[in-house]
Amino acid sequence: MEPKGETKVDGVRMAMGALDCPVCYEPLEPPIFQCGVGHLICKLCYARLEKCPLCTRTAFERCYGMERVVESVEVPCCFANNGCTKKIAYFNKKRHEKACRHGLCFCPEPGCGFTGPAVALANHVATRHKWPSIKFKYFEQFNLPLQPGPRVLRATDGNVFLMNLTPAEPLGHTVSLVCIQPEATDSRFGCSMVFSCFTGHHQISTLDAVRSSSLSDGMPKDFFCVVPKAIGTDISLRTTIDNELVYDDEDELEHEDDDDESYDEDEDEDEDDSDDA
Ligand SMILES: [Zn+2]
Ligand SMILES: [Zn+2]
Ligand SMILES: [Zn+2]
Ligand SMILES: [Zn+2]
Repeated sequence: MEPKGETKVDGVRMAMGALDCPVCYEPLEPPIFQCGVGHLICKLCYARLEKCPLCTRTAFERCYGMERVVESVEVPCCFANNGCTKKIAYFNKKRHEKACRHGLCFCPEPGCGFTGPAVALANHVATRHKWPSIKFKYFEQFNLPLQPGPRVLRATDGNVFLMNLTPAEPLGHTVSLVCIQPEATDSRFGCSMVFSCFTGHHQISTLDAVRSSSLSDGMPKDFFCVVPKAIGTDISLRTTIDNELVYDDEDELEHEDDDDESYDEDEDEDEDDSDDA
């Protein structure tokens, strides 16, 4: 197998290529298999190969020793400089980085080349491009004026959203909403908007799964709601964003300074626990 360079891990140097499948070069992850003389192959190669491609022996067995090795080698996320403190098993590195919430997002303003993690981007568009910035709590309705253009919606747990209202003649306005984060991150947000544009009009528009976008392809072009032309200008879009309350250890929320959406009010017996990290 071919070493693919050395990486320093806590003072130990090792050829990280030793942790890759010698057939497909992808990182080995459990279950790992070996032939009778110890050639290793990954589970995908095991599933598709009839015999060991290196020595043509056919009998494969699990290689528990190597599984222990690959589970013990942890590497930093490539977004460590952006604030990710995760140490990840080497075989999970690519998967984590695709969905890391410290991954790069892109300013969608034409001609602006700013990139940064979602929170930095939200600060950037607010200060540099004067986008309105609105704080909200999940499940609590808040009012947005019917005003064309983008705005940043900031949840109390640090997640940030882009909502864009685009004039669409002759209809009125279209409304787009994305969660600003790398695309590979699963959505766990929904949105509903309630409004009335003229006498006798009442509309509820909902978006079941707010998609994630790093905004690498600019402003979102998909929309979930058309606000009809209004009579008068003081239309209020009563907006609610909800959160599925999924907390997995791969992507826990690190900036939580207000976690009342994650607990029921009657679960306050741990109030004296000031450090529940
Ligand atoms: Zn393989
Ligand atoms: Zn072999
Ligand atoms: Zn990360
Ligand atoms: Zn910008």
